[in-house]
Amino acid sequence: MDSTTTVTTRRHRRKEKLLVIMGATGTGKSRLSIDLATRFPSMEIINSDKMQVYKGLDITTNKIPLHERLGVPHHLLGNVDPAHSELTPSEFRSVAGAIVSDITSRRKLPVLVGGSNSFIHALVVDRFDPNSDVFYDRSVSVSSELRYNCCFLWVDVSMMVLSEYLSSRVDDMLDSGMLEELAEFYNRDKASEDSAKRTGLRKAIGVPEFDRYFKRYRPGCEEEGTESEKDSLRTEAYEEAVRGIKENTRQLAKRQMGKILRLRRGGWDLRRVDATEAFRAVVTSSGRWSEIWAKQVVEPSVKIVKRFWDE
Ligand code: ATP
Repeated sequence: MDSTTTVTTRRHRRKEKLLVIMGATGTGKSRLSIDLATRFPSMEIINSDKMQVYKGLDITTNKIPLHERLGVPHHLLGNVDPAHSELTPSEFRSVAGAIVSDITSRRKLPVLVGGSNSFIHALVVDRFDPNSDVFYDRSVSVSSELRYNCCFLWVDVSMMVLSEYLSSRVDDMLDSGMLEELAEFYNRDKASEDSAKRTGLRKAIGVPEFDRYFKRYRPGCEEEGTESEKDSLRTEAYEEAVRGIKENTRQLAKRQMGKILRLRRGGWDLRRVDATEAFRAVVTSSGRWSEIWAKQVVEPSVKIVKRFWDE
């Protein structure tokens, strides 16, 4: 083998770099990804939240708004038509894998950002078996053989603080028009033939909880009864839906944390960044949120990413 062949073979063997920002719902992954991308302009983001891949329900699924993306390219964020069948982890592996290669070929750094650990796992493991589920089947072990040169940043927030934050986030989402968005989705979805199937975007937290409410109080239709009777029953049903959303979001965060710990036990080298103090500042309205976030979350993350980028 001559020296040119050796160099070419080595280059071929070199794995593509992939930065992965993971963490439970609401821990600030999107925010951190933009904070990092403003310091490392070569970054392009690939979404790995299984509800945010679909077009629609932007408030309900908490997609980062366009103006907050600051021009950073985002892939697989709202591109999939929800009318098509559900995007499986296997399909995600193939679509996101092609995007990673494309970004790398342009000498940019792909950054995977999102809370769906099944998507993250499917994309990065060397050998992916679509018929076994590492998160639900205890007899299947997590493989630490990865097809990329990965740097995992895990944004962690203590469950107690995160719970409180998630509850207020639901209130903020409702203030931003979540109910109206869901009402429109409900009316449009009812017209579709297989609206009874809970697939894709219909699984997003908020849809099933408010479906029950809209069945009783069809958007745009007036119900019968006296004014005060109508008001109190309706308020009760609304509050029940909101309580459901808050509880299901909290349960989702807990399950996601459990899956992250499972990946770590399986040998994934997760670099934990603790955002608890920053979130405590948010829930107590202390006014020091951004200062603590910059110091305790962005600064250590920048150091980790810089080392990874330079290696
Ligand atoms: P699972 O195997 O349980 O689907 P996962 O790791 O593939 O887990 P998660 O991100 O944990 O994916 O999502 C699980 C469920 O949580 C989704 O099916 C959906 O009901 C809800 N969910 C996840 N992300 C969102 C979101 N952005 N908005 C609303 N609901 C969400």
